[in-house]
Amino acid sequence: MEETFDIHSHRHMQDTEREFENSLRPLTFSDFSGQEKVVENLKVFVSAARMRGDSLDHVLLHGPPGLGKTTLSNIIANELAVGFKVSSGPVLDKPGDLAGILTSLEPNDVLFIDEIHRLSPIVEEYLYSAMEDYRIDILIDKGPSARSIQIDLNPFTLVGATTRSGLLTSPLRARFGINMHLEYYEMETLTGIVLRSADILRVSCELSAAKEIASRSRGTPRVANALLRRVRDFAQVKGNGSIDKAIASYALGALNIDKYGLDEIDNKILLTIIDKFKGGPVGITTIATAVGDDAGTIEEVYEPFLIKEGFLKRTPRGREATELAYRHLGRKKESEQGFLF
Ligand code: ADP
Repeated sequence: MEETFDIHSHRHMQDTEREFENSLRPLTFSDFSGQEKVVENLKVFVSAARMRGDSLDHVLLHGPPGLGKTTLSNIIANELAVGFKVSSGPVLDKPGDLAGILTSLEPNDVLFIDEIHRLSPIVEEYLYSAMEDYRIDILIDKGPSARSIQIDLNPFTLVGATTRSGLLTSPLRARFGINMHLEYYEMETLTGIVLRSADILRVSCELSAAKEIASRSRGTPRVANALLRRVRDFAQVKGNGSIDKAIASYALGALNIDKYGLDEIDNKILLTIIDKFKGGPVGITTIATAVGDDAGTIEEVYEPFLIKEGFLKRTPRGREATELAYRHLGRKKESEQGFLF
């Protein structure tokens, strides 16, 4: 199998990569490009909360990985001029952990919970009263002396992020006053993000090179920044340190980056539809079984990009691979193959 470059996963991110990401994170709304509608609305809600001196309503941010959910939550806290605490669904596995973090919040602070769809049901239950009444009931002691005590919390804003909004329970979803979806970025916006990052990294980068990187970034700033980092290495070792179109193309080729920015799973989905199901239409669960991923992840994380870029079509009878998918993967439609005698 060909060596591929794993840039989509942030669950397995190393510390150095995390540090790199943090160094490139925009800190204010004005530094954050794209997602215009979301930003415009958030600005209004943040200003209003500040004027009233209240905590901002709880915010749910959903969308595929790497589009800026963590970044936006951090910006919300900065713009509100309040403290910011971070946790995540899988980490908060005991009610005591949640209680600890909630009681440490100052008035109007922002608590960010990433992958909020992965909270355990018990912890989620505790979160309900915290979100609604700024109160939690904690059970202390065991056996006959067990009793529950009520703890009042400071008003706070919960910002929940999820790549799988379909997995959120409805009681949890209903407790978010603000609910926003992040979209894949347009090429131009991503190009600007690459140039901004290059600036912060103090590496010169030609516009055409930034465009090349952006076009292969799957509409995702995290991917764009990760590619820029790798291209910078090539520029340093194989070039004169600055990034031009030639070195960018060379590096992206050497890294086996797909021309359209598709990742391994994107290609696997398309190949499955084409090779195993004659291009479709085929149902999402059948695709999921063949690819070995779950249907919800394919539907919420992979499919939207493939549809947006015109590789996949949704029809009433299932998903269909488009001409572009066939061409990209070097496959021929059966109807074009002619008859075999
Ligand atoms: P998510 O939480 O949605 O997975 P992050 O907020 O962690 O994504 O963003 C991933 C990386 O992409 C960060 O390094 C961040 O700096 C960068 N990034 C995301 N959105 C933007 C944006 N609109 N402008 C500039 N950089 C961005």
